[in-house]
Amino acid sequence: APDGLRELLLSRIADVPDYPKQGVVFKDITPLLADPAAFGALTDAFVSLCERYEADKVVGLEARGFILAAPVAVRAGIGFVPVRKAGKLPGATLRQAYDLEYGAAEIEIHADALAPGDRVLVIDDVLATGGTAEASLELVRRAGAEVAGVAVLLELGFLAGRQRLGPGLKGAPLESL
Ligand code: AMP
Repeated sequence: APDGLRELLLSRIADVPDYPKQGVVFKDITPLLADPAAFGALTDAFVSLCERYEADKVVGLEARGFILAAPVAVRAGIGFVPVRKAGKLPGATLRQAYDLEYGAAEIEIHADALAPGDRVLVIDDVLATGGTAEASLELVRRAGAEVAGVAVLLELGFLAGRQRLGPGLKGAPLESL
């Protein structure tokens, strides 16, 4: 992102030490969401990425990815598709398991939400270890669509999510704003 946008976005993200547990610095985006100038600028930047990568669907990852991706879909004039934690979507789903630091998790997408030929931009707030994004790429491909790219507000570089995600991206871009 250009320096001005980067500074604006960073100034609206709060560091919360030891949340949700000791040793983790939680990146709280609620100040950004409460500032229409910052939220609008972020949305515009994501919309530009949709245009650059010729995306025709936006996939948002529960829960904060929903908040960021929904206005992007509306402004870009393309569809929004949710990836949810297992057990929340009412229709027939595809399910993908992935490892967490302690234990495992499962996410789902509606099996008919994407079609062959769809180009999808996956949006989330924070890329940490990359496990969530990696599992979402699997779901998008299993649903028959192509991954146009992954876009996040913030990338925690020291957790090397970019390296972990690299093979799963298969050459698609990872953009952190
Ligand atoms: P990961 O699968 O490790 O890349 O974790 C990414 C998911 O966990 C994203 O959906 C983030 O919203 C959330 N997350 C992980 N670490 C943080 C953090 N330090 N601050 C805020 N959210 C985080």
